[in-house]
Amino acid sequence: MVQMRELDVIGQISGLLGWDQEVMMPPKAAAMRAEQLAWLSKEGHTRMTTPEVGELISAAESEVNGSEVEQGNIRIIRDSYDKATKKPTEFVEEKARHTSKSIVSWTEAREKNDFSLFRDDLAKMIDMSRQLAGYLGYEDNPYDALLDLYESGLSVAKLDPLFQGLRDSSVPLIKAVSELENKPDCSWVHKHPWPKASQEALSQAISEAIGFDFQAGRRDESTHPFCGGSNPDDVRWTTRYDEKEPYGAIYGTMHETGHALYEQGRPRDLDFQPAGEANGLGVHESQSRLWENQVGRSLAFCEWSFPMWQEHFPANFEGVTPEMLWQAVNQVEATLIRVEADEATYNLHIMIRYEIEKKLINGELEVDDLPDAWDDMYEEFLGIRSSTRTEGVLQDIHWSFGAFGYFPTYTLGNLYSAQLLQAAEKDIGSIDEQVRRGEFTPLLDWMRTHVHARGSILEPSDHIEEATGEQPKPDAFVAYLADKIGRLYGV
Ligand code: ZN
Repeated sequence: MVQMRELDVIGQISGLLGWDQEVMMPPKAAAMRAEQLAWLSKEGHTRMTTPEVGELISAAESEVNGSEVEQGNIRIIRDSYDKATKKPTEFVEEKARHTSKSIVSWTEAREKNDFSLFRDDLAKMIDMSRQLAGYLGYEDNPYDALLDLYESGLSVAKLDPLFQGLRDSSVPLIKAVSELENKPDCSWVHKHPWPKASQEALSQAISEAIGFDFQAGRRDESTHPFCGGSNPDDVRWTTRYDEKEPYGAIYGTMHETGHALYEQGRPRDLDFQPAGEANGLGVHESQSRLWENQVGRSLAFCEWSFPMWQEHFPANFEGVTPEMLWQAVNQVEATLIRVEADEATYNLHIMIRYEIEKKLINGELEVDDLPDAWDDMYEEFLGIRSSTRTEGVLQDIHWSFGAFGYFPTYTLGNLYSAQLLQAAEKDIGSIDEQVRRGEFTPLLDWMRTHVHARGSILEPSDHIEEATGEQPKPDAFVAYLADKIGRLYGV
């Protein structure tokens, strides 16, 4: 469909302008850039919602014998068309206007530690999100309509058992670690500064080693690390540097390289087709977390990368062993801030947001009870309570732009990555041994075949089942975490 090709090109141009905005653009260009991006977005929306597209989809749907790629294309286009046409235009405009206002009041409220400054705008955003769920439609739960925006087919019925499994295993594990008297000594990390130039060199070397093609992409610096760009021949990722500690930069590098490898591995025979796109946020996050955590935070990876760390930071590594590096990149501790959380506690931060969003959208929790409900859940599941709203309910930007339903995809990424790694290991043998020798190709090739090359031909949960033999489950992740925490802390 020629319309899809043009929509894809619009998306590619927006991707490049968005990258430029975060990485290169001079400050005075902001207002005009907003105009450019808004025009592209409106143009895309107009082209997607013409009656002609609706007729083409209906015609294609009546020809039932298409290949799996054709069926995938039709499913995705139908879904985008329905989502774009079910919302009244006035509602879309009103939500865009309200979002700009609401981000401003959230920013101020967070700075001043004063929830009341954000209260009215958040109340309206929750209300609009409930309305949106009504426009989009749902079978069992209004929240399902919003979850489906970020991962196609996702629902409360699918997520409840996943979070239940995580909660039952993680809560006791974290409690056991927090009660330990003797924890590994990681004070060596803060004895010397970590020069930025050396961090950049190591970031580049590691990204190259795990397989990113720098002839088809770039590494840059930005305040908020991300992976963007326009197509598999032009993938742009960023990281940020802090001379007090290097892990944000290096593990950020592995995270964004994971996203970037996925983009570079998309099926080129499906260029410009929806089925050739990456498959939703959960699967995307599985690829970033695979390289960042499952590979990057393993003892094997610390052993392999150790000589590189020593080469780039000779003073910092005097008297340090690979085992000490491994301990330092895996410190488990219940903390208040999601983006700083470790692998063990991270999913509980997400579970808390998931439970709260479900209640807010279903009308079981109202905005005035939200800040305390937040703190109570932190106390219940992580054993800590925030003394400020800034470090409590105001910490994340997501709700200010109405992204209810987004958070769970972070946890799905963790679960999928463990399940995929387990399946890969059955096919290609011990990944630890390969990683220890710096052989990353077999694992990347497996992901290329089973994840990247499959685009979004199947819905995410069916895609995971095709790759691993099972629908998404918490078991592989739970086992991985219990094993790792056991080895690190002896609990
Ligand atoms: Zn990510």
